[in-house]
Amino acid sequence: MKQIILPDGRELCYELIRKRVKNINFRIKDEDVVMVSASSKVPIKYIEQCLAKRAEFFFGAFEKIKARKAAQEKSAECVKWLGKELPVVVYDNSRETAVFDENECRVFTKDFGAENVQNLIRTARLERFKALCAELNEQVRTELKARGFEPPPAVITIKEMKSRWGSCSYKRGHISINLRLADYPRETVLSVFWHEYAHFWHHDHSDRFYRFLLDLYPDYYKHNNVLKTG
Ligand SMILES: [Zn+2]
Repeated sequence: MKQIILPDGRELCYELIRKRVKNINFRIKDEDVVMVSASSKVPIKYIEQCLAKRAEFFFGAFEKIKARKAAQEKSAECVKWLGKELPVVVYDNSRETAVFDENECRVFTKDFGAENVQNLIRTARLERFKALCAELNEQVRTELKARGFEPPPAVITIKEMKSRWGSCSYKRGHISINLRLADYPRETVLSVFWHEYAHFWHHDHSDRFYRFLLDLYPDYYKHNNVLKTG
């Protein structure tokens, strides 16, 4: 990458590619670089004079790219994740993925379009939630065993459900977990796991069921009531 200093002190960056082209060609690359292709016969000094002459046009084009990126970043807004509203930050990068951490959801993409950004977030969010569920499943199974209750083999399915947070077909050894739980804190998701596992021993919602559940997970109401209010 090279740069020229304009008479007013501003810097203009460019990348030069030597090619068999007739004239000099200019192309805007990103928000701060001009790509120049020119034949090897054209001297650098002449190329730089041409760049300086067109400087206003290039800076105008950079501004437009910056404004478009800012608008697209803003449109992605926030994403709900484990009880938090994470701001979405979009990075110009070819990884084509989204990464969730404590404070933000970082999207790495070359395509800033809202639809693409949302797709990357949705895919990453599902993967992260599946991983969390696998972890919580292991946690509950380990604790059950430690308490002397041998849990039957269980297949966990994550899916979007309308009316239930989770369900347990104890006969088939199948637990479904609502993907919408990804909006809520980890402990709330855990409370749903405890609830569904408790059904392997008590199939209804009787007092006995809740006594069993609360004995295993005393904070059940504290974390599960969140789902009733919002
Ligand atoms: Zn139930």
